[in-house]
Amino acid sequence: MTTESPDDLQRAASQALSEQEDYLRSQRHLTDEQLLSQLVETLRKEKAVIDRWVDSGDCFILSGSGKVHLPSCPSMQALVDREAAWAPYLDDLDRVRNWQSSDNAPPMPALMTRADVEDLKRYSSCTVCAPTLDHTDKRPVARGCTLLPAGSLNYRHFGTSLTLVDDGVELGVLTKI
Ligand SMILES: [Zn+2]
Repeated sequence: MTTESPDDLQRAASQALSEQEDYLRSQRHLTDEQLLSQLVETLRKEKAVIDRWVDSGDCFILSGSGKVHLPSCPSMQALVDREAAWAPYLDDLDRVRNWQSSDNAPPMPALMTRADVEDLKRYSSCTVCAPTLDHTDKRPVARGCTLLPAGSLNYRHFGTSLTLVDDGVELGVLTKI
């Protein structure tokens, strides 16, 4: 007769579950050939998504550092060219099967439209590919503030304290225009 405590049973159950998860997520139910053809299919789909997006003409990439680029930017080529991005993974299926690593598939670029970009509270535009956007360095307006174009100031704003958006310099309370 076994005397397994509830803790032991729980541990055994969760180990069995994590082994099963590892088996599935590392795709060991697939042979290398099957896995490879799945990856090539993924690559093909990603390429089609990027091609369609570039063809739309309304295409910007947001990099991890918050910079906005054009898809043609040299610094984005490693992400945009899906064949180049996938090549090292297709050559190293152990890397792909290692799902617990954060590097088992090439990251997709963050594809955005102009409207998506302008909706961002904060971005800066890349100085190399220089996309034409509303801002070169957009920053969030401080809480409780309203963004006003200088030309829209009128008598209703007397008594309002004003701050420059670009560098946060406080102009003080508006008393005359
Ligand atoms: Zn760029």
